[in-house]
Amino acid sequence: MIPLCVLGPSGRMGAQVATLALASSELRLCSAADRAGSAIVGSRIAGSDVVVGDDLQGALSQAKVYIDFTTPASTASAARIAAKQGCAAVVGTTGLDAEAESALDELARVAPVLVAANFSPGVALLLHLAELAARALGPAYDLEVLELHHRNKVDAPSGTALALGKALAKGRDLDFQAALQSARTGQVGPRKDNEIGMFAIRGGDIIGEHTAFLIGAEERIEISHKAQRRSVFASGALRAASWLAERAPGRYTMTDLLGF
Ligand code: NAD
Repeated sequence: MIPLCVLGPSGRMGAQVATLALASSELRLCSAADRAGSAIVGSRIAGSDVVVGDDLQGALSQAKVYIDFTTPASTASAARIAAKQGCAAVVGTTGLDAEAESALDELARVAPVLVAANFSPGVALLLHLAELAARALGPAYDLEVLELHHRNKVDAPSGTALALGKALAKGRDLDFQAALQSARTGQVGPRKDNEIGMFAIRGGDIIGEHTAFLIGAEERIEISHKAQRRSVFASGALRAASWLAERAPGRYTMTDLLGF
């Protein structure tokens, strides 16, 4: 059994990961850490002997792999600590900044690291199909992305929407950052040919929905994914953790895991 540490077990995702980890036949939940001051610190993960701490170093030292659905700042801190211990990382936190990315690159020199904006197998396929569709249909079709999430999501566009935009850009051979258009308001003029529009809806308890639009003069294609349960991300992250723990140091993606 591979010893696993879960970060942020009081969160929407961390709680799911910790619960599902207890049913794993490959992973053994050995430690969990949340932010100092969180009400969960000092209590047990239900159904286990694991007491949630606020000491990242202590929690990571017991594990061979950790799963991180937290915040960009704590992703950076955890990666820096894990690099000293050679602990593998499965990171689902989105909105990562340059500091977090560079800490993960450092960690990837000594341990395997898998970062995914979305751990659902269906989204991995969606990205693949979007790239294929953009390439097949070519520049006569305008590319747009729409994403919907719950009212408490803090980053926009979602990490998955950005990944979807990058997949479309790759299929069309565009520079994604130059093509990205995430604000249209006022006298914006006609749509430019090589834009990739990207828009976010927030409300209620929507888990996560993404659609790539390829809009031509006479038809349009919509490729959509809708998450029905948050557990799809948690079970994907656990699958990634079992797989990653046996890999060589380096950066990995969901495509490496699923083999599309
Ligand atoms: P959340 O706010 O419910 O949970 C975040 C958790 O991180 C909280 O429990 C918080 O206490 C904890 N935390 C903050 N600082 C910490 C620290 N220093 N050490 C340990 N824990 C710390 O958020 P959520 O909905 O669970 O989402 C978390 C992240 O995962 C977001 O970035 C979200 O966009 C992303 N997400 C990714 C996927 C995916 O499949 N990759 C799916 C859903 C959400």
